[in-house]
Amino acid sequence: MIKAVRGTRDLLPPETALWNFVESAVRDVFRAYNFQEIRTPIFESTELFARGVGEETDIVAKEMYTWEDPQQRYVQMRESYIEASNALNEGRTPKLVPLNLLAGTQSLTLRPENTAGIVRAYIEHKLGDRGLNKLYCIGPMFRRERPQKGRYRQFYQIDAEVIGPPSAGSDSPARDAELLEMLATLLDRLGIANWNLELNSVGCPNDRAAFNDALRKALDPVKDKMCSDCRRRAVTNPLRVFDCKVPADQPIIETLPRISQFLDEPCRKHFDAVQQILRAVGVEFQINDRLVRGLDYYTRTAFEFTHGALGAQNAILGGGRYDGLSEALGGPPAPGIGFAIGEDRLVMSLQESASAAGALRTPHVYVAPLGTGMNAEAAILARELRRHDLVVDLGDENFRLKKSFETATKSGAKYILIVGENEVKAEAFALKNLATGEQVSVPRAELARKIQG
Ligand code: AMP
Repeated sequence: MIKAVRGTRDLLPPETALWNFVESAVRDVFRAYNFQEIRTPIFESTELFARGVGEETDIVAKEMYTWEDPQQRYVQMRESYIEASNALNEGRTPKLVPLNLLAGTQSLTLRPENTAGIVRAYIEHKLGDRGLNKLYCIGPMFRRERPQKGRYRQFYQIDAEVIGPPSAGSDSPARDAELLEMLATLLDRLGIANWNLELNSVGCPNDRAAFNDALRKALDPVKDKMCSDCRRRAVTNPLRVFDCKVPADQPIIETLPRISQFLDEPCRKHFDAVQQILRAVGVEFQINDRLVRGLDYYTRTAFEFTHGALGAQNAILGGGRYDGLSEALGGPPAPGIGFAIGEDRLVMSLQESASAAGALRTPHVYVAPLGTGMNAEAAILARELRRHDLVVDLGDENFRLKKSFETATKSGAKYILIVGENEVKAEAFALKNLATGEQVSVPRAELARKIQG
């Protein structure tokens, strides 16, 4: 048997109803904050992620699905060769192939995250000039990680980004606070209780240069006692040491200097202003000065929402500000802030939520045609009922009554409706509540109301 590849999975009903419930709540909430949807390709040139996420990050260093793709001219060249050999076989004179059609490949990567893709599209289509500053995207991401509960190789993210020219105020702490308040609203709306917002500022490149120096100095005497990743990071990019999850390294990491001691005056003011607005609108948060996030391009505000019920992989979402990213990708100055919600984990934390229960819709009624010629009559009735917004499942006239009852029960329908010759003539149908066993005869015109009731 061929199975889904390790780290990928099929999303099956009834759980897919929860996914739809999440996505429709996301669209409603985002709309109220004037976000608009963007859909970018699932693969991009590798260089985008190398530059936009950072060579030293775990994502780029170890987790990307990258391949060398033959370029168009290579394909053309192959076609020309095939055409030439066909011509020779058929005794025709082959067309001349220009010698400059040399083989070439380009490096492509399945997107491991989508901030870089959205910023690329923002630059490419000059979205800033069109006032399109608030964008969101829902779709799959791919990382070659060790699969475990809550961690997959194909997983889904809901991304939102506020980006724009500085004149549009996209560097303002008001944007950070608005985004965080939107997230709190979304999680509350989904009925996810007990989330935690962890907040930090990672400063600007100047602060980080000083912080990195201090970290290097602090790590130098202890790095040999740390894991191999940390030994490498201590030299190449010491900030990333804070991503380390190895338990034995944690006491050492606890003693390291913190970015909060290195923030310059504008960064400190920005961070204070974000906190002040969050307090004013009543969004609770905790400062976590170890939170530096996995991507190199973050500046100032960095945050994560966690949920206790998720266990080891407890981050539902993460995000932060990335004021220099557009320039790093060759675009105009366009400060921005965004987040990525892990939709798989959001759905997992939702499974206990009462508000999600309504998303799991089973049929209101199973319509059971009884006897030859009744399929058409049952189809007419089902069509009438569906026009009243009822969820209707439909049987087959070849089923015996016992089989219809078994199928109706398996489908989770609330009622079974019997459509036999006598019922059609009488314009009244036997409707049985499958849970209570109560059966009544209901005139055709009253059926929808009775089932809805
Ligand atoms: P990141 O871009 O790593 O900050 O990821 C943002 C969010 O995506 C995380 O908070 C997780 O909820 C989710 N996420 C990241 N990697 C995975 C994965 N391999 N499987 C499932 N969810 C993931």
